[in-house]
Amino acid sequence: MNRVYNFSAGPSTLPEKVLEITASELMNYNGSGMSVMEMSHRSSVYETIIQDCERTLRRLMQIPDNYKVLFLQGGASTQFAAVPLNLLSQNGKADYVVTGQFSKKAYSEAKKYGDIRLVASSEDKNNTYIPRLTKEDFRPDADYVHICFNNTIFGTKWDYIPETPAPLVADMSSCILSEPFDVTKFGMIYAGAQKNMAPAGLTVVIIREDLLGNASPICPTMLDYKVMADNGSMYNTPPCWCIYVAGLVAKWVEEDMGGLDGMKAYNQEKAEVLYDYLDSQDYYKNPNEKAARSMMNVTFVTGDKDLDAKFAKEAAAAGFVNLKGHRSVGGMRASIYNAMPKEGVVALVEFMKQFAKDNPKG
Ligand SMILES: *Cc1c(COP(=O)(O)O)cnc(C)c1O
Repeated sequence: MNRVYNFSAGPSTLPEKVLEITASELMNYNGSGMSVMEMSHRSSVYETIIQDCERTLRRLMQIPDNYKVLFLQGGASTQFAAVPLNLLSQNGKADYVVTGQFSKKAYSEAKKYGDIRLVASSEDKNNTYIPRLTKEDFRPDADYVHICFNNTIFGTKWDYIPETPAPLVADMSSCILSEPFDVTKFGMIYAGAQKNMAPAGLTVVIIREDLLGNASPICPTMLDYKVMADNGSMYNTPPCWCIYVAGLVAKWVEEDMGGLDGMKAYNQEKAEVLYDYLDSQDYYKNPNEKAARSMMNVTFVTGDKDLDAKFAKEAAAAGFVNLKGHRSVGGMRASIYNAMPKEGVVALVEFMKQFAKDNPKG
């Protein structure tokens, strides 16, 4: 089996056990005589799949009963519009914090729909830190506050949950299921599934019930959370296959990784291997403030564009793929999501050491 260590930021590596289960069930799912890809989303066999997925996520994340779990399409980016269209319900105002490219896109999109205030931005230092904010920094009459919890491109993460007068909405695309989060601290959490949960095509929304039902009159039906909630995410055909895989991934976290506490411990171990090495030498540099370091996306540069390019190329040839950083940061980015085994990170660090030895800087 020639599997590589895949450090892609998304779509990204999935647990091998999950891939094996999907392969073994591909031709005949649970005696149905067909693949999950082929079955009606209204069939009883599929009903069990989607219900199991939701139940497992609820157990795993300890999602309270007064929150809905929605399985949607359109990626996290569609939520950049859906959030204001649903939640600018009282005063038409929302507060945004920009800490990277996705939160900036969310902010720009929201501006089409209401009075959107930029509360703080870390763009002044190329998003290498997370602003320290208190309740007083936010407008008391805003309908919601939006943040991006883990900044996939820049490799930073909020190290605290800000206190806000209005419900907090968080894009958790690249950190959901990586560690426990207190769901009750959020009005809504959303995540594109292709980082840590499933193949691309599914967006999970977890939303407090009292926030449903006040969508703007111009909100497209397909983006209306209430419509989706009332229809069990089946107003139309849901992303059936992705929901099936998300259920298997959630079960893997629960049964094989010790739930979100176990997952966090494992993710911390992995991240430490990489950050400890980065801190121990000066060939590679991580540009971010320590407090803001992401456990999922680790960025580093050599400081020399040609060396960076050489690194990405030689790493790929050695079986460490998708390490090229995003163009806005340059250098390298190792996305070490849940499914990346620790051996992959340890082996990457060995490769980094050898590369530094073989390519002294002039
Ligand atoms: C990948 C990502 C997005 C964009 O997700 P799509 O599903 O491609 O729209 C948004 N926010 C974060 C934090 C991401 O990591």
